[in-house]
Amino acid sequence: MPSLPYRGRFAPSPTGPLHLGSMLAAFGSWLLARHAHGQWLVRIEDIDPPREVPGAADLQLATLAAFGLQADEPVQYQSRRHALYQAASAQLLVQGKAFHCHCSRADLAGQHGIHRQCVASQQRPQPAIRLRVNDGSRIRFDDALQGSITQDVDREVGDFVLLRADGYWAYQLAVVVDDAEQQISHVVRGADLVDSTPRQILLQQALGVPTPAYLHLPLLLGTDGHKLSKSLAAMPVDTNAPLPVLRWLWAALGQNPATLHSATSVADLLQHAAAGFEPSRLQKESRIVAGSPPA
Ligand code: GLU
Repeated sequence: MPSLPYRGRFAPSPTGPLHLGSMLAAFGSWLLARHAHGQWLVRIEDIDPPREVPGAADLQLATLAAFGLQADEPVQYQSRRHALYQAASAQLLVQGKAFHCHCSRADLAGQHGIHRQCVASQQRPQPAIRLRVNDGSRIRFDDALQGSITQDVDREVGDFVLLRADGYWAYQLAVVVDDAEQQISHVVRGADLVDSTPRQILLQQALGVPTPAYLHLPLLLGTDGHKLSKSLAAMPVDTNAPLPVLRWLWAALGQNPATLHSATSVADLLQHAAAGFEPSRLQKESRIVAGSPPA
């Protein structure tokens, strides 16, 4: 059987400039796609206007360009794909796999925010839509780096939101619909999203779409072995000095620094990086990064 063509992606939310953590996901997903001779796409996840910063999407794309990370297809914007999310949620509602829900956060506080049945104290003008998560919904998957991951989605997450009560589509629905529609075969992203993956697999099963392969990149750790402070990890990368940042990210991905020593331009560095990338050097556990990130 011919194997599916490799299609990876980087999917930033335009909530601010790209920082070291997001650039690790961008560079890591690009490297794995290049290594597999596959395609690498960029999708702007702009479905949450209250959290968006005007101009951030353009800035993120300009940063990717400055780092030489070019998408192989036109950039997609989730804000232009509502019809797809609408169709998916309608399908789930018709099939009884999703339901309208009037519960508020306060209603669910008594059960640690986990929805198992509706306990709404009053009707909302516009209800949310949740996926029905059946009892015993245990999801297990093999992450290419983090290993076997298991989550009891019913007990740990509960019926989760697909359309928010404020009328915006939830990340979980949009990401699953888009990964399927764009035929993404490999999802490579930050370790902070590992906990979302079982929900996404459950949703893929409900929608009858394929489950891609997953690889969650290592968390960035400081030399002291602790997670990089929020402020450090959230530091915007300097688009005027892409080479030191790319070298730093390369080391954070466990790669041999010598591979990039001779590079004098971004294009040159990326060529060496694509040719010399060794997925087996990625750390299973969180990676301790020597030296401080480039300022
Ligand atoms: N848009 C999400 C974020 O920026 C990432 C989505 C994904 O890679 O699945 O956190």
